[in-house]
Amino acid sequence: MSFAESVARAKGRVTIRTGAFINGAFRPSKSGETMACLTPIDGSELGQLSACDASDIDDAVAAARASFEAGHWRTMAPRAKRDVMLAFAQKIDDNAEELALLETLDMGKPLANTTRADIPLVAQAIRYYAEAIDKVNDELGPSPHNAVSMIVREPMGVVGAVVPWNFPLLMASWKFAPALATGNSIVVKPAEQASLTMLRTAELAMEAGLPEGVLNVVPGLGEKAGKALALHMDVDAIVFTGSTAVGKLIMGYGAQSNLKRVALECGGKSPQIVMEDCPDFEAAAQAAAWGVFYDQGQVCTAATRLLVQNSIKKDFLERVAAIAKDLKPGDPLDPDTSFGAMVDEAQMNTVLSYINKGEAEGAKLICGGERALGQSGGFYVAPTIFDGVDNKMTIAQEEIFGPVVSAIGFDDFEDAMRIGNDTIYGLAAGVWTSDIDKAHRAARTLRAGNVWVNCWDGSDITTPFGGFKQSGFGRDRSLHALDKYTELKTIWIELRK
Ligand code: NAD
Repeated sequence: MSFAESVARAKGRVTIRTGAFINGAFRPSKSGETMACLTPIDGSELGQLSACDASDIDDAVAAARASFEAGHWRTMAPRAKRDVMLAFAQKIDDNAEELALLETLDMGKPLANTTRADIPLVAQAIRYYAEAIDKVNDELGPSPHNAVSMIVREPMGVVGAVVPWNFPLLMASWKFAPALATGNSIVVKPAEQASLTMLRTAELAMEAGLPEGVLNVVPGLGEKAGKALALHMDVDAIVFTGSTAVGKLIMGYGAQSNLKRVALECGGKSPQIVMEDCPDFEAAAQAAAWGVFYDQGQVCTAATRLLVQNSIKKDFLERVAAIAKDLKPGDPLDPDTSFGAMVDEAQMNTVLSYINKGEAEGAKLICGGERALGQSGGFYVAPTIFDGVDNKMTIAQEEIFGPVVSAIGFDDFEDAMRIGNDTIYGLAAGVWTSDIDKAHRAARTLRAGNVWVNCWDGSDITTPFGGFKQSGFGRDRSLHALDKYTELKTIWIELRK
């Protein structure tokens, strides 16, 4: 089957919503402006997405505020709220096949990934925070005998969420699930490259019983809709996942407007460190490859800097390159494909320009380095490995967000720690060693929000996720995420004699 035929077939099996979802209904942007929504699989058009701007954001924030004040969700009994969210999670499960297809059509990651990971993890996140609703207690302080001090958490009010395209629905769910569980109303601005699953999910939430106005979704360009949301005077908190450059703007918008609470999950340039005493050569080589080639490297925690001890580097890189050469880009809609498309033409060109820069700065290309499947009309880049990289080179310092590994040699443990931490980012890091002392020392020394020992990308909804340094602040996942969506209030009650 040609790529065009498989896209046409998949389009027949999904519901494509293109309007903004405000106060429980879809509607076009007020300006009437639209933007083409293309699939990167073959470059064809999926629909015309509403290009919303500040006036649509005003409406969505007003709907969210009205629902919050009305209290239909905020004051609902905890167990009733939990049951709505459990029904919402079930809706995701019931529509998982469609949502997986839609995600793959919209952003080009393999259907195998959206089916096995993205969509089930969304249902898991909603279920996890649903269950927290009637299980997390407030606190009583150690007050004197003649008083009672209560430390209670209250919802922030209206939360704005600006999210990226790489895990479009999953990153959104890490925001809207804890925000809803804590009783907030929310406006989500999905990435312009991949908005379809979030729009479809808003209607599933309503079908599950979420009152109207509580979850609103406004598609549009970041510089228009995203900026308007972050600058809005009636938004109490803005939670963001995306690049560090835009994260800095978001922080500024918070300061320029109403000092809204800001939480940022930003980029990364994560080191995966392989010591000569690595306990499992093959597992480490697989992790080195998949740590960066999964979802074509469009992963914030991608292991883009591969630090290998010089004594084993030649053999190790040969094995990683062999794995990479076996990885052929293919039709993302084919369930057997494990390496799909870049999200769009612009991202493909960005990645290719970094590859050119790597070669120009003297790194040695040992595999990949070119566009693939050009005849499909889609946007594909072959898995790429550079050897001989100096950590000062652009490809070792800047986030490429594509399937490009920079291999860097090191002599000893201290050298590895120094290079590993020599970055503005601090999202993730990993170390492979048989020595328990080195493992613990590395875990404590590496400045990153996630440190993996003898694995890459171990994760669970129960553990916090986020970065140090310019990878942002605030944590998604786990019960710690609830802090972002609640105000702490102290209530002190003096007891009469
Ligand atoms: P991006 O920063 O370009 O866009 C993210 C979102 O911000 C989009 O919705 C976009 O429309 C919006 N935006 C853009 N300009 C804006 C502006 N001026 N004002 C308000 N909103 C604006 O990022 P991207 O390309 O969509 O995603 C890739 C980035 O996301 C990478 O840097 C990646 O590392 C990061 N990411 C981080 C995490 C994490 O948890 N730390 C997870 C996934 C992705």
